[in-house]
Amino acid sequence: MRYGLHVPIKNGYDAAVDYAQRLGCTAIQIFSSNPKTYRVMAMDVPALERFKARRREAGIDPAAIHTSYLINLASEDPKIVAGSKRLLKNDLEVAAVGGIAFVNTHLGSYGSRQRSEGFAQVVAALGETLDSIPPGVWLIMENSAGAGQLCGGTLEELGEFIRALDHPQLGVCLDTAHSWAAGYALDTKEGVDRFIDLAEREIGLGRLKMFHFNDTQIPLGGHRDRHWHIGEGNIGFEGFRALAAHPELREKTAILETPGEEADDARNMQAIRLIFEGAATGA
Ligand SMILES: [Zn+2]
Ligand SMILES: [Zn+2]
Repeated sequence: MRYGLHVPIKNGYDAAVDYAQRLGCTAIQIFSSNPKTYRVMAMDVPALERFKARRREAGIDPAAIHTSYLINLASEDPKIVAGSKRLLKNDLEVAAVGGIAFVNTHLGSYGSRQRSEGFAQVVAALGETLDSIPPGVWLIMENSAGAGQLCGGTLEELGEFIRALDHPQLGVCLDTAHSWAAGYALDTKEGVDRFIDLAEREIGLGRLKMFHFNDTQIPLGGHRDRHWHIGEGNIGFEGFRALAAHPELREKTAILETPGEEADDARNMQAIRLIFEGAATGA
């Protein structure tokens, strides 16, 4: 697997690549703009082209954009849905210019409405977005922790979106902390094997492009979204080792979204490196 960190771009793309390189990343995830606003920044084409070239030099590929936290394609408020679609479209365009393969997004929450009604609306919004998706970019749906009426909390529901849309550039990201929170036991090889078998049946491993590797301290099925340091939570080294060693996942990408600053990032990257090295040698 290729693996790396979610890196802030507040100091620019060059600083982000330097940071990722310093910590040994072979993949990277960024926000394209402030993730807490509906405003989109004007696209800086030269900066994005330079970002692409710098990543290539540094061997950091693939890259992903994580979309804004405000995106809610299932909302009852048409203004929120329109703003969400605008953000998504912008990130797909930024990704195409910057040579960024994946645009990873949360789907949102059905709120108080009927699930079937919300589901149909999300399918329509994703369908419209996919109609104008630039070539070379994947729209990636991230699984949720399944709290309340959150969309995409089960592999079955993600599979329903895949089948309803049937688009060649639609993929899935499985966040290990969200999966654990949704009730999937990823702390043993048996649990991981079961999970990946189900992902194969429901989603198809060709569409499973990415993982977010996050440990978590919440109880299994706790439906809360809390990320923790790799190997220091309930998934633990054994769970990540099983994912790293899984023969069907060698071509996938894993991004860490663990808490803290550079010292924590360095420790988490060191942990994941040891896990992959151990998985490779069977140690
Ligand atoms: Zn995530
Ligand atoms: Zn999360």
